[in-house]
Amino acid sequence: MSPGERRWLAFYASNRWSRNSELIVTEKQMRVRLLDLTPHEMETQMAVWGQPAYRARQVQHWLYKKQVSAPSEMSNLPAALRDRLAEDSQIDLLVPVTETASSDGNTTKALLRLDDGQLIEAVLMRYNRRRTVCVSSQAGCAIGCTFCATGQMGLQRNLSPGEMLGQVIHFERWLQSNTPDSGGITNVVIMGMGEPLANYSNLWRALRAMSSPDGLGLGARRLTVSTVGLVPGIDRFAEEGLQVNLAVSLHAPNDALREQLVPINQRYPIADLMAAIRRYIERTHRRITFEYALMRDINDSPALAEEMALLLQGLLCHVNLIPLNPVTGSPFQPTRREDADIFAGILRDRGIVTSLRVRRGVDINAGCGQLRARVAGSLEKGVL
Ligand code: SAH
Ligand code: SF4
Repeated sequence: MSPGERRWLAFYASNRWSRNSELIVTEKQMRVRLLDLTPHEMETQMAVWGQPAYRARQVQHWLYKKQVSAPSEMSNLPAALRDRLAEDSQIDLLVPVTETASSDGNTTKALLRLDDGQLIEAVLMRYNRRRTVCVSSQAGCAIGCTFCATGQMGLQRNLSPGEMLGQVIHFERWLQSNTPDSGGITNVVIMGMGEPLANYSNLWRALRAMSSPDGLGLGARRLTVSTVGLVPGIDRFAEEGLQVNLAVSLHAPNDALREQLVPINQRYPIADLMAAIRRYIERTHRRITFEYALMRDINDSPALAEEMALLLQGLLCHVNLIPLNPVTGSPFQPTRREDADIFAGILRDRGIVTSLRVRRGVDINAGCGQLRARVAGSLEKGVL
């Protein structure tokens, strides 16, 4: 390897994706992480290796369309380039540790290990001919919502674009080997561990690769990002010019209650959040989804439903009600079925499009405390 190449690799190894992790540069991290590269960066990398630009497109085709796990499978590349890739680059950034299936078999949760040992979750949901992956954007989360299992872990670090893409690719491969006739992933929701808008630029690099025809080719409308409501991030999101869906985790219609559940509400109170959402809708003309985890005797009263209805009156929106998934050691309990029905009924009576996900007993979703129920409601309604 020449000194110039070493510098290039060292640049990648500088851990710029993961400012929150320790700067331990291992031999593996010195390798170019291919899934982290934009098409332009891939061309630059090929130039460093003395290769023409079209090789970049060939490599990306193997990565995104064929989802290969090793350069040796990139059969139309010259042997010398395959060797170079094998020596100096890395494709898979995630190692599956465990896999759990729900009792109905439609949901599969994978625990994945990152290079530095961090563990994250990704979930595949198969519903109504959709195959949706729920992707984590951070290892842990700094926001600390009081009812959320991830929030109680604190933030470990941001995920790189390749680590987000890798979760989708993991399940593309899973589908190919487990249900080869069913087709690949159709939708992605960034609703796993972490606050995606707190990892903004990595998030958008991943979203662009997911939506691009030269990348995973899913199309922007099939991608959804869920945020706790970071106002500057929502404003930036509105300017991105891609039709990626946005969901906002509201959980309470007034500041006094929301502050107790979602501490970041002190920084971005509901009035500021709603103003950002109005700007977003005005700019994009896109319907926004509000997520609302129903917690017994905390935020599930008819009076709060009325307050929600007033808050959302006239807004281009959809409400996704999710009975809370119980988290071990947490005082918060899922709402009662009848209270959820009343809450949903009030919103619907006031003209607000509302879906309510009914829990089907304890299985992996409850264990996860996070990932599925909120998504499934929208999936069944065909919203996502
Ligand atoms: N940080 C982002 C996205 C990840 S969390 C956000 O907060 O929106 C995705 C969703 O799961 C959020 O709506 C979050 O409030 C919700 N959630 C967290 N813990 C939950 C639980 N125990 N039961 C149900 N939903 C939960
Ligand atoms: Fe973070 Fe979202 Fe959990 Fe809140 S709900 S702690 S923002 S992952």
